[in-house]
Amino acid sequence: MSEADHSVMATFRGGPHDGQTIPFQHTTMCRDTIGMISEAWYAEGKDGAIRIMKGGGFRGAKVPWISYLEYIYNKTGPVKGNKVEYQFERTEEIRRCRKLLASKGRYCGFRALEGSDYCDQHQQ
Ligand SMILES: [Zn+2]
Repeated sequence: MSEADHSVMATFRGGPHDGQTIPFQHTTMCRDTIGMISEAWYAEGKDGAIRIMKGGGFRGAKVPWISYLEYIYNKTGPVKGNKVEYQFERTEEIRRCRKLLASKGRYCGFRALEGSDYCDQHQQ
């Protein structure tokens, strides 16, 4: 069997990805819950101005993101014949921890906890 035999086509229902089919390289990638990050996101420039950005994929610590949306999808059943389906559940606003790391000249790269401006490490 080749690697390709393990790939799965995931179809998304509802929400912003309604009707989209995305290939997963392996069945182990078909987690019960998947968060799809929004195309648009907010960034804070060195001048403190907030800008709306688009695209760019994963928002790591060195990317000056401050918030974006994540669309939560749940698997509706087990993988069957290399196919799996996900149903939209909710939209979450992901905000960046507001702890300024002076030595690095940027904010902490973690997500803030819900209802807080800080991640669990910087929570006071
Ligand atoms: Zn933090």
